[in-house]
Amino acid sequence: MSMPHIHSFAASYGEARDKFLAAARIAGAATFRYDNPHKGPAGEALSTDVARLGPDDASRVLVAISGTHGAEGYCGSGFQVDWLAGTGAAGLPADTAVLFVHAINPYGFSWTRRVTEEGNDLNRNYVDHDKPYPANDGYLEIADLLIPRDLSPATLEAANAKLADYRKKVGDVAFFQAVSAGQYTHPDGMFFGGGGPAWANRTLHTIAERFLRGRPDVAVIDFHTGLGPYGYGEPITHYDIDSPGSRRVRAFWGESVTESKRGQTASQARDGLGHYGLNRLLKEPETRLTMCTLEFGTFDRDSGQKAFRADHWLHKYGDPLGQEAGPIRAAMRRQFYPETDDWKEAVLFRGHQLVRQALAGLARGPL
Ligand SMILES: [Zn+2]
Repeated sequence: MSMPHIHSFAASYGEARDKFLAAARIAGAATFRYDNPHKGPAGEALSTDVARLGPDDASRVLVAISGTHGAEGYCGSGFQVDWLAGTGAAGLPADTAVLFVHAINPYGFSWTRRVTEEGNDLNRNYVDHDKPYPANDGYLEIADLLIPRDLSPATLEAANAKLADYRKKVGDVAFFQAVSAGQYTHPDGMFFGGGGPAWANRTLHTIAERFLRGRPDVAVIDFHTGLGPYGYGEPITHYDIDSPGSRRVRAFWGESVTESKRGQTASQARDGLGHYGLNRLLKEPETRLTMCTLEFGTFDRDSGQKAFRADHWLHKYGDPLGQEAGPIRAAMRRQFYPETDDWKEAVLFRGHQLVRQALAGLARGPL
């Protein structure tokens, strides 16, 4: 096994995109660009980029997605670059292609936010927008406490005391449900999923229609960060217990898979996950889709919550281009992208392992 190439990781969205396109060139992959109508904080153009390697008509396709939660994109991007530049076509079995989707939420990546330009948590946005949105009455009660008008110590302390009271009143499960299950009422609030399909949601559908529709076997690894032990990559599945999907995920990735429906993971089977979006689009008998979320641990949940609240405050009440933005963006970046060599090495090792396993699983054929 080659040494991990920790220089595959970037220090900005723009650098990540450049490295991705350069690595795609080295691999001989075809690239496709989807322009986002917004700009980054430095005025830079934003896009989702796709690299495709392998036969055009391959019946098996391995997909790796980075940047569903914007700022988490550094992780998946580093892996994609490393695989394209270091492994490439040599790692592809017959009749198999890879499709790497870089920065599916380029706005969040460049602004160091989890959300899209519409304020959406993309993993709450893959709901049926023609139906009534799921209710979250708890969020209504605590919305202004989560994102108070100012971040002064006194205001924060008062808000936190009220949040603690609320948590005591309803219990931990209902509290975390209220905070993070997703809400469809406050566009500048946390875990907002409503308002229609986000640009990133529509773009992923366009990409899936173009490159994945009609393929008999598709495997998807969606890279995330922020949950779990530092540096560990947890493959999470949201398929129903003992369903064909959950059996395939386990056959591909083995005993380290955790199933949200069995309560084995901190990640919950929320409404609106990309998992449901892609599984509605690509389904049997046309396509066997085998999908996992690969979640890399960073720091504790409390520091994440703190960074996340400040980010929402900045974009609701503050000046995202002003002085106050610096430390807030730095805290978000640290939370979702710990820039240490050991963390990056762990990401690369695990990423290569899961891709190798998925390619082997696809090559074995249907269970
Ligand atoms: Zn995430």
